[in-house]
Amino acid sequence: MNIHEYQAKHLFQQYAIPIPEGKYADTPESAEQAARALNGDGWVVKAQVHAGGRGKVGGVKLAKNLAEVMDFSRELLGKRLVTIQTDSAGLPINSLLIEKIYPIKRELYLSLILDRATERVMFIASSSGGMDIEAVAHDTPEKIISTAVHPAAGLQSYTCRKVAYTLGLKGTQLKALEKIMFGMYRLFLAKDATQIEINPLIETDSGDLLALDAKINFDDNALAIHPDILAMKDPTQEDDKENEAQQFGLNYITLEGNIGCMVNGAGLAMATMDLVKLKGGLPANFLDVGGGTNVEKVCEAFKLILSDGSVKAVLVNIFGGIVKCDVIAQGILEAMKQIHVTVPVVVRLEGTNVEQGRALLTNTGLNLYASEDLNHAAEQVVALAKAVA
Ligand code: GDP
Ligand code: MN
Repeated sequence: MNIHEYQAKHLFQQYAIPIPEGKYADTPESAEQAARALNGDGWVVKAQVHAGGRGKVGGVKLAKNLAEVMDFSRELLGKRLVTIQTDSAGLPINSLLIEKIYPIKRELYLSLILDRATERVMFIASSSGGMDIEAVAHDTPEKIISTAVHPAAGLQSYTCRKVAYTLGLKGTQLKALEKIMFGMYRLFLAKDATQIEINPLIETDSGDLLALDAKINFDDNALAIHPDILAMKDPTQEDDKENEAQQFGLNYITLEGNIGCMVNGAGLAMATMDLVKLKGGLPANFLDVGGGTNVEKVCEAFKLILSDGSVKAVLVNIFGGIVKCDVIAQGILEAMKQIHVTVPVVVRLEGTNVEQGRALLTNTGLNLYASEDLNHAAEQVVALAKAVA
């Protein structure tokens, strides 16, 4: 799960990571009030969306006076922001973070991630932080260092010194960095984060270190024991279809192709998507209807898949283990009638009562193809999608 920058900075504060003085606002008036209360001689107006890359597309604006704070807030609120990290529809800007402007001497990069390869928590750092960190990673990867934390020993000072050396920090700045790194590490473990990113971590003209930006990702599987984190969830920043799917216990992820896939079991769903690709098609989604499939779930799954306008054909690949194939077939028929499915649907059933299931799906008068094996089903659905497209 993702949270907003202002929420991440609130957590930073609790873990002694220094942040700029700032305030939340969700109207131009409250933005102006916030700026007034911050009492500086310049402000930064930052769009709060669950995506980075805001600076490059006008989502972070520097205001010289209170009138500009109002103007920028009016301009941003209610719009959708499209950045390199969002899809083409972008994300809605419903709130802002108003911060005091700080003079920047250097922009550094510091993050903490869960590294699956080494199975350790790992710091990543670079003295070339800021908005072009992706280009740095691509063109001069040697400017980015990574250093793992020993799981038994925990974070030790020598790791901080190594990072400080990379960032060109000594003396009191090393001490300040150490405090930030320990804060990040404690926060990471306490809240089951999977990533904490500070980009940029700035050095101000007076030599102070400040987390100018803040991004935190959390492990979804741990949210049940962190109600405080779960409470920060913002569904407006997530895919509508994925939100709806969650309510029905369906695992749904939007993809870019035009073949809707309805499958039971995550492993089978992945294998099905692979096969569709192998046959020259592109899946429009990943959808796992789960183990105990019933008519209601199949109906909801169809609705979700078809609400995606790019879907030209649907492949249903269900293994009847606990649920029998004839029950599933009835569910599919019921769903297709209830919601008037018009795009071609290829169904591959296997498992208990498969003969009865297939019999139910033949000669239905619907745009339905009962397939005997998965290979053939995948070829068929790709051909049907191409014929329509
Ligand atoms: P992102 O583009 O979504 O990662 O948004 P950031 O929060 O990282 O802001 C983008 C850029 O805006 C930063 O890299 C800074 O260069 C600039 N910026 C943000 N806050 C301040 C500030 O307080 N003072 C100054 N001078 N620049 C800022
Ligand atoms: Mn940033």
